[in-house]
Amino acid sequence: MSKRDYYDVLGVDKTADEKTMKSSFRKKAMDCHPDRHPDDPQAEARFKELNEAYGVLSDSQKRSAYDRMGHRAFEQGGMGGGSGGFQDFGDIFSQIFGGGGSSGGFSDMFGGGGRRQEAARGSDLRYEMDISLEEAFNGKDVDITIPIAGDCDRCDGLGAEPGASIETCGTCSGSGKVRTQQGFFTMERACSTCGGQGEYVSNPCRKCDGQGQIRQKTDLDVSIPAGVEDGTRIRLSGQGDAAPRGRGQSGDLYIFISVKPHELFEREGPNLFCNAPLPMTTATLGGEIEIPTIDGGRSKIKIPEGSQSGKRLRLRGKGMSVLRSSQRGDMYVELSIETPTKLNKKQRKLLEEFAEISGDDISPESANFFSKARRFWDSLVE
Ligand SMILES: [Zn+2]
Ligand SMILES: [Zn+2]
Repeated sequence: MSKRDYYDVLGVDKTADEKTMKSSFRKKAMDCHPDRHPDDPQAEARFKELNEAYGVLSDSQKRSAYDRMGHRAFEQGGMGGGSGGFQDFGDIFSQIFGGGGSSGGFSDMFGGGGRRQEAARGSDLRYEMDISLEEAFNGKDVDITIPIAGDCDRCDGLGAEPGASIETCGTCSGSGKVRTQQGFFTMERACSTCGGQGEYVSNPCRKCDGQGQIRQKTDLDVSIPAGVEDGTRIRLSGQGDAAPRGRGQSGDLYIFISVKPHELFEREGPNLFCNAPLPMTTATLGGEIEIPTIDGGRSKIKIPEGSQSGKRLRLRGKGMSVLRSSQRGDMYVELSIETPTKLNKKQRKLLEEFAEISGDDISPESANFFSKARRFWDSLVE
């Protein structure tokens, strides 16, 4: 396969000066940069070819060798260079674009102001959503309306009044950046002539003030999956602000979920906890109570005779739904025995009689506690 002429590759003529070559290289390199065309071998090949050509022509020695001998100058026995010497195009890139070498991603290299904003991402957006515990359990489809930045329809995102011209900034050749050398340091700053935009708009769009974008209320249908937790962040890829000039990737939209506290249930991961007050008599005699469940149903639970406060009963599979799963957590019902208050005469009398005929054996815990207390006092006396 015969190699293409380096000048043709760069799209410049043989008398082109350094500045012209550089700006042509930039433009072409951005068009076929592998980060912009992942998995496109053709773009990658073009990118390599471009780097090779620029690597030779930007070096005055190599350029004159190439001018004299063509590609033969870099073949075996030639002065070297050629494709072998330019595998690491990160080097050339850092010279031209500033910033890190090949390890820095596309966005790093092209970040900052100016025309490289074409490759910039739109902003991410954040939306706060409060939902109830029942909604977290069931999942929910919600319609939300949020202002999302998109191309201005008057100027098609160009920022110029229809018919107005857009001119490349002469000071920075459209790069939006100016480099100055101070001793050992090369400083790069935004071009002051164009404000880092790399271009002028002779007559900015009236609707968007030359921004190229306007925020418009946009309706979105958001699906909240069953099992979300408080603090869950749902990412809607590409639903954020459009990239400036509509040519880069749109930002993402993040839905931040807050689950409101519930009157009856407390949640811990997939499990729910419910505190159930129980009349003293039921706890003593045993019985059955009905407990509400998060799915809106009821569960009957048996209270064993002599149940104590703090006893936990487990309802298997009656807890929260689990994200991306058909499983459910458990529900724990914690009993708390309610001491009767406001007794009438008859009730009081019955309880007094009950106390009279009751010995230690019906409340072993208290009997145990008081016998320990007695031993403690006795040991102090001795
Ligand atoms: Zn506009
Ligand atoms: Zn400029």
